[in-house]
Amino acid sequence: MKKEKKISKIGIMGGTFDPIHYGHLVAAEGARHHFDLEVVVFVPAARPPHKGARAITDPAHRLNMTVLATGSNPDFEVSDVEIKRMGTSYTIETVSYFHQAWPDSDICFITGADAVLEILTWHRVRELLDLCSFIAATRPGYRLENLAETLKGLPPGYIDRISVMEVPALAISSTDIRDRVRRGMPIKYLLPEEVENYIYEKGLYRK
Ligand code: NAP
Repeated sequence: MKKEKKISKIGIMGGTFDPIHYGHLVAAEGARHHFDLEVVVFVPAARPPHKGARAITDPAHRLNMTVLATGSNPDFEVSDVEIKRMGTSYTIETVSYFHQAWPDSDICFITGADAVLEILTWHRVRELLDLCSFIAATRPGYRLENLAETLKGLPPGYIDRISVMEVPALAISSTDIRDRVRRGMPIKYLLPEEVENYIYEKGLYRK
């Protein structure tokens, strides 16, 4: 991270990134522009808390793909803080880490709206909402009523801490990309070429 410089507003882009794709990159760049973020730090999760039975790809591969995908944007950085911490990746621990490193900065946590939909069940959610605001990135056609209903359950004053951002490019999904690779279908133009090449070189998502 840009330690030499005082940063007033940081975006933390949290996700599994299995694999990272243009939807994530467009969402991060849109959030940076719209919310005046000076930097967006991508933080691949070691083990996201709410993952079901699906085995997720080795964190080292997901980290490498994230580095490859973000390399050309000087406003993007990648942190391995969750991967180094290992175990379940609780967002409160990650945000606390960035808060300690940058106590004077406002922190915005950016992630998918479906993940934010579960926010009431997140570890130490009140503390988390005291430390950072949220940007929930939605796909086209996303049913915003579900999110609005969830947010009603937040303590008064916290609803304003969550903004929703529609990102048409999020029609691309990691699940679809994994499925396409498995079925031998093209993934070109869904994600950066460096990431596409990495997936084929390492034989990811074949089964
Ligand atoms: P997920 O369930 O894999 O994703 C939910 C939806 O959001 C998917 O449609 C996904 O699309 C999309 N998405 C995920 N990350 C995104 C991003 N950064 N930008 C735009 N869309 C995104 O979500 P997850 O990866 O497990 O969790 C997301 C983040 O929330 C992670 O950082 C995780 O650690 C955190 N989280 C924390 C807690 C907690 O602290 N208790 C609980 C749950 C989640 P793709 O599949 O295409 O990415």
